[in-house]
Parts: sequence; C-alpha cells; structure tokens
Amino acid sequence: MHEADAILAGNLMEILAEIRSFNGIALFHCEEDSLLRKKEERLRKQGRKDPLLIPEWRCPEAEELAVQTLIYTAKQTGARVAVAHASLPLSSWRWPRPGARGSRFIPKPVRNT
Ligand SMILES: [Zn+2]
Repeated sequence: MHEADAILAGNLMEILAEIRSFNGIALFHCEEDSLLRKKEERLRKQGRKDPLLIPEWRCPEAEELAVQTLIYTAKQTGARVAVAHASLPLSSWRWPRPGARGSRFIPKPVRNT
C-alpha cells in the first residue's frame, strides 16, 4: 500500500540478500497485497461504505501473512528487517530463536500512516 508496488517473494529474497551484503537494515510495510485486493473486491461488490469496512479490508491475516514471509526471508538471507506500524500482538508471530543464525527482527509499533 502507500501507493508502492507490492514486493514479490522472489524479489524480496534478492533485496534482503543485497541488504545483508552490506549489513544494512530495511523497514517494511507488511500487508499481503493479493489478499487486500480480494477483500477490497468483495467489499465493493457488497456496496459497503460503513466504517467497519476498513478493518475488514486491512485485516490481520494480510499483515500476518506478509510478516511471516518477511521473517522467513530475513532468516534465509540473514538480513536485518523492521516492520512499520505493526498492529498484531507480537505473540502471533513466529520469532527467530534468540541467537539463530544471522537474522534480527525489529518490530516498530508506531502509529498507522
Ligand atoms: Zn505503511
């Protein structure tokens, strides 16, 4: 979202490998774009205009799917990543074990933008 194109998993792997090569860190907005599009399509067909459509559209499943993909990819590449304005409880994520090879994962629970 934020008008940026979604990053496909293959591209994410390449990007994180590059970030790892110079020991960088990157901040990600995590929502699974294809799931958001499906939800949007369904809500539009239903003619929904009520305030509850936003949490139904920008749903926790979309965030969790994207975060899981990011964590997996960060673990595979050893890159350091951060998640922008995370809204899920941290307990719902599968964290890398402390001391696990390479990766460090930093959630950034800041205001939604
Ligand atoms: Zn964002």
